[in-house]
Amino acid sequence: MEDITVIGVRGLPLIRAGDNIAALICEKIRVQEGDILCVASTIWSKAKGYTRKLSDITPTERAVRLGNLNGEDPRFVQGVLDASSDIIMEHPFILSEMSYGHIGVRAGVDQSNIDDGMIILLPPDPMKAADELRQAMKEASGKNVGTIITDTCGRSFRRGQTGNAIGWSGFTAIRDFRGDTDLFGHVLKITEEAVVDEIAGFSNFVMGESNNGVPAVLFRNCGTWTGHDDLYFRGDEDICRKLLKKKNGINE
Ligand code: GDP
Ligand code: MN
Ligand code: MN
Repeated sequence: MEDITVIGVRGLPLIRAGDNIAALICEKIRVQEGDILCVASTIWSKAKGYTRKLSDITPTERAVRLGNLNGEDPRFVQGVLDASSDIIMEHPFILSEMSYGHIGVRAGVDQSNIDDGMIILLPPDPMKAADELRQAMKEASGKNVGTIITDTCGRSFRRGQTGNAIGWSGFTAIRDFRGDTDLFGHVLKITEEAVVDEIAGFSNFVMGESNNGVPAVLFRNCGTWTGHDDLYFRGDEDICRKLLKKKNGINE
């Protein structure tokens, strides 16, 4: 097994609505069968037009209230509310769930790396986006690559943001170690490794956050694994979410 190689895709243009990201990437790098391609959600959304003009947004009463409470533009807040399927926390920032299970600060809505007065939303169905990207990579390169749509996310318990996978295609999100034996012959009972987030995390490190201009990262020789796709806690499993909603007086 060869060592893992990580390649940042440099020299991509500023992405505009209608761009074929896979074709642009394949002009810059040569992909191989089995590679894993991480793409920042921000460029996927720009290419697909998942953006909004602040001046087109009319804030509701709730958006005005939360805008005042958190010191944010009520139109931006409305964009966040519109992208959310469930609000978990309102202050000091909005923490919400998207319809597909991802929980993020301000619903992952960005105002950076886009023209003034515009916001970038997360793709409404990132799993579908990852499938589409994989298909487009096959068409552009003839190769089968796995894909991950990433976003930079805050986290609980620790300072600092890291890259997370919000959509993936071509492998399972989780590598399941349960039932394996460790070096001492103990059977593992709990360990499920969130492989897609680990890869997304490293890709985020290569991308950088501001003006690096590296929105895609290729991984080679990651090998294969088996597991499942239940990355998001459901209902009662999610203890922290339940406690947060209770503390903030938000009823189920
Ligand atoms: P997010 O993590 O998906 O919210 O995206 P970021 O705004 O953090 O951008 C990730 C990386 O992509 C950074 O290196 C940015 O400079 C770069 N980036 C963002 N938009 C574009 C673009 O349109 N073209 C290029 N070439 N790079 C971009
Ligand atoms: Mn983002
Ligand atoms: Mn980022």
